Order: sequence, then C-alpha cells, then structure tokens
Amino acid sequence: MKHVRFTIMIIMLALILPLCSGYQVEAASKRDYLKIGLKFGNNCVSTGTLKSDQGFLLGTIDGRSFDEGMPLPAYNEITITNENGNIVVRDTDGVLLSADMGSSGCIMPTDYEDDGILYYDGTPYRGGIHFLAKSNSNMAVINVIQLEHYVYGILNSELGYTNPKEALKAQAVVARSYAEQNLAKHSSDGFDLCTSTHCQVYKGYSGEYDATNEATDETEGEFLLYDGEPVSAFYFKNSGGYTQNSEDVWSGKLPYLRAVKDEYSPSYPWSTSLSFEIIKTKLESAGFSPGTIQSVSINGYNNTGAVSELKIVGSGATVYLKKENIRSVLGATIIKSNMFKLGKGSASGGNGTWNISNGIKVTESDANSNLYVISDSGKAKKIEAEGLYGSNGLVTILLGSKASESTQTVTSGTVEFNGYGYGHGVGMPQDSAVEMAKQGFDYKEILNYFFTDIEVD
Ligand SMILES: [Zn+2]
Repeated sequence: MKHVRFTIMIIMLALILPLCSGYQVEAASKRDYLKIGLKFGNNCVSTGTLKSDQGFLLGTIDGRSFDEGMPLPAYNEITITNENGNIVVRDTDGVLLSADMGSSGCIMPTDYEDDGILYYDGTPYRGGIHFLAKSNSNMAVINVIQLEHYVYGILNSELGYTNPKEALKAQAVVARSYAEQNLAKHSSDGFDLCTSTHCQVYKGYSGEYDATNEATDETEGEFLLYDGEPVSAFYFKNSGGYTQNSEDVWSGKLPYLRAVKDEYSPSYPWSTSLSFEIIKTKLESAGFSPGTIQSVSINGYNNTGAVSELKIVGSGATVYLKKENIRSVLGATIIKSNMFKLGKGSASGGNGTWNISNGIKVTESDANSNLYVISDSGKAKKIEAEGLYGSNGLVTILLGSKASESTQTVTSGTVEFNGYGYGHGVGMPQDSAVEMAKQGFDYKEILNYFFTDIEVD
C-alpha cells in the first residue's frame, strides 16, 4: 500500500514538476532587469517618442523587477516629456495619458514578455524605457533590459559576428561577467551601465546578429567564477605577446588576473610620434606643470616587457607616469599598449656625433676607467663607469652589457613610440581568443588559458 501511494506521488510529481520548474525558471530570468543609460549627463533630453506595433504597458521598475501598471494597447506612438519635473505621457494628438510617471516609471511594449521590440526615437530596443527626471526640463533615458538580451546587444560591437563561434562564446561569458561585476558603475547616474567603451558598447536590437545571439544562447547564464563568485572579466584587443598582472596595470592584485605568456597573439605592431610640445600639452591637460620638455625616457619595465614607468623631464618639473597612466595621460588610442620602446623622431637637431656619458658627465675623475673615449685629436682616454649612455643629440641609449634592456631617452624634438599590442593587457586578448578558436580550442579552454584558476558555470 505504502509502495503504491509512493508510486502515485512520483507519477504526480513527474506530471507537475516540468510545468512548475519550467515556469519558475522562465519567470526568474524574465524579472532580472539591468538599466542601460542611453541618454544622460550632457545628452539628457526634454522629450522623446516611443513606438510599438503592439501598444504599451506603463509600469514601474523597482530594483530589478518590472511591475505592470496601466496598459495602453490601442496606442502605437506616444511622447514622453519632462514638464516641470513631471514625466508626462501623451498621445500624438497631445492628449494626456499619464500626468507623472514618477521617478521609477517604465514603459514596456505590450508583448515585452514575448521578445517585444520598442522604438525610442526611431531606434529599436528589447525591454522597456525608463525616463528619469534630472531637472525641471531634462531627463535621462534608460533602457530596461534582461541581462541575456543586453549581451545580444553588445556582443557584435565587442567582437564582430563573423568571428569563430567559440571566440564569440568566450566573449559572451566575459561580457556577461563584466556586466554583472560592474552594475554599480553608474549608480550615481541612476542606472547600471552606459552604452560606450566606458562600459561595453551596446547598440540595442539593431546591434544583434544571428551568430552573436546564438553564442549568447549557447552560454546562457554562464559566468566566469573564482571561488564560486563572478569575477571582473577584463578583456582587450591584442596582448603583444604577454598579458599583464592586474596590479602592474592598475593597483589591485586579483588572483585570476595574472600575466600569461600569450602564444596565440597575432602580431600587432604600431608606431606613433609625439612632439615634445604635444607631450607638454597632454601633461598639462592631466594637471601637471612640466614647463618646457627636456627629455622623455623609459624608467622601468615589468617582467613581461611592458613599460612600467615613463620619465618626462621638464624645465618646471619631472613627471613620472606609471603603469596605465602612461596611456590614460598620453592617449590610450595613441599609445596603444605599454609594450613599447622609444625611438628618435623625425625632427632635426641631431648632430650625428655620439657622445658617451653616464648620465652625469665624463670628467677627469673617470681617468682610471676601462672604456676608451677618443678625442678629436685622436687621444684615447680610458674611463670606467656603470650605466653608460650614448647620445647623438636626439636619442640616448644605454650602452654595454645592459644595452639589451633598451632603457632609452629622447632628448629633443619628437619621440617615436614603437610597440606591439592594443589595450590594457589584463584578462582576455580578443585577437588571441579568435586565433585559439581557429585552432580548434573551445570557449572554456580559451577562458582557462587567460584567466587563472577560474571556472565557467
Ligand atoms: Zn559607462
């Protein structure tokens, strides 16, 4: 009897469970919304238009869940305006539909639970739009969207849809993890993430492609985890042969962001020239007062070969730019990576003669040294000193046994930066992810290569 009753229970559970669990899983993910700032700060607007073929649903976004309010199924176009601090909704004839949506008002298309699309000022988005009053006439415009749909909207912008599937899947996992870890980035603006490279480039529904949506779906809900917790999944374009320890680029040391010798990095050489005058202007923009620039030199490398400190001597002050500040001050798209060496620029000024010095002066006190300096009249004098430099008036290089370290100083005119790679160097280099995918590695192997001691789940 007991056995029969148990069997009946199992049959009942087998019938009920799929319905229950299916519904609950669906409901949980549907309610997990992010807020993406489309217009904010100087780009705030006073009015905006929404269109939807299926009509609208006014409601509120409370935390991460949307609460349904008044349905407007018969309207296909509405305007939202900040009138004296109130978020007012009207139809196209100006008839009032809502006198004030309040500070958490959110407008969804009626079919929002069924992949509905809403047009804000002509641009299509999944999810809804939250208008947030910022003054008596301006408002921020915020796309309220599920995490998976947000990943749809960024993936092609961060790694093009034509790339191999496993690289796109690796990118989907890091992008999803990055979003999860950076939800507080714009909390003072009233939303989670912006649409630019400051966060991740998001283009909404118009940025979606079949291949990138498939890569998102095939990794649905997967994050990069360390000790069971989602990590700050940084990524960038090209490593130049080595990724970087997090503390060598910024300040915090994270156990999963360790330097990795990157054997899959396609070569990415770059070169740029900056005049002393431009360097001076950039330093001044960053708050330094160097005066007239007298020399630029590499003052140290970390053990991956990246420049850890750039020394700029000016008539007013000597400025030391460390780690990622080198790029943020001189321009992160100009100095593409810290994997660079200095060269002489094209400006005139060199006299063709190489003078030997140890950075101070070659004087009579060096008379007992082993290095010979030959004078114009042909007299040789032996000198001995550590850290000998050679200079031709434009470029100063370290000579002798330490010359391979390429500590270099440019003393006039224009500085040439010759480097490899593009980006901060921390986490996953996208070019290498693509190369590994081409060689047959799957997305978990790619992620495990660049992130130390992580799991994908
Ligand atoms: Zn941002």
